[in-house]
Amino acid sequence: MSRLDVHQIPVLNDNYVYLAHCPETGATAVVDPAVAGPVMDAAKAKGWDITHILNTHHHGDHTGGNLEIKQATGCTIVGPRADAARIPGIDVEVGDGDSYTLGNAKAVVYDVPGHTRGHIAFWFEGSDALFCGDTLFAMGCGRLFEGTPAQMVNSLDKFKSLPPETRVFCAHEYTQANGRFALSVEPDNADLVQRVQDVDAARAKNIPTVPSTIGIELATNPFLRADSADLQKTIGMMGKDYVTVFAETRQLKDNF
Ligand code: ZN
Ligand code: FE
Repeated sequence: MSRLDVHQIPVLNDNYVYLAHCPETGATAVVDPAVAGPVMDAAKAKGWDITHILNTHHHGDHTGGNLEIKQATGCTIVGPRADAARIPGIDVEVGDGDSYTLGNAKAVVYDVPGHTRGHIAFWFEGSDALFCGDTLFAMGCGRLFEGTPAQMVNSLDKFKSLPPETRVFCAHEYTQANGRFALSVEPDNADLVQRVQDVDAARAKNIPTVPSTIGIELATNPFLRADSADLQKTIGMMGKDYVTVFAETRQLKDNF
């Protein structure tokens, strides 16, 4: 089994597009190409030929480069079975529990509805890499455009049991704003206080704060911590059930 080389490309205001490259076979996937030009330039600079596109969900800032990259490279587009009609140029449909192989690297696909109804994530176990689109962010989670709080909780739960060293390659640099909100709902979390300081220092130097890891998110991300007594107390929901606390936290963030 091969370990993927992952190259991060910042595009648009705050999107991250990833190149995932199998060094044994040369297979190279673009994860969520918001745009085409800068992604193809980055692949060329790495000396990698794009063979695949992996889409986590249909939003334009994740699929905007699909057709132009496919036309230029003849690559195969892989995306959510549950939302195939909204993925431009899709060739291969995948869904919950499927295994997907890129070169010699194997991934498990998860259905993770909530942000959109057909959102998926790819977990490349041998590469310690989770490509989760707009489901889980550093200290945040995606807005619930097409799903319920219960669905999103169920989706995020799938990530909680991944190895703590798993790198979280999310699709946006939202970390600093997420951290300010997280502190407002869990002010006594020492790991969170420290993390927000580290993130502020990194952003002051324009250093990406992504990827993070599952372990760091479990300790500091309020959307994985609806069972935290500190959080429940701060938002006035002591002893409420997990989904109810999550829903209130998500609503507070929407209005923060
Ligand atoms: Zn999105
Ligand atoms: Fe997005």
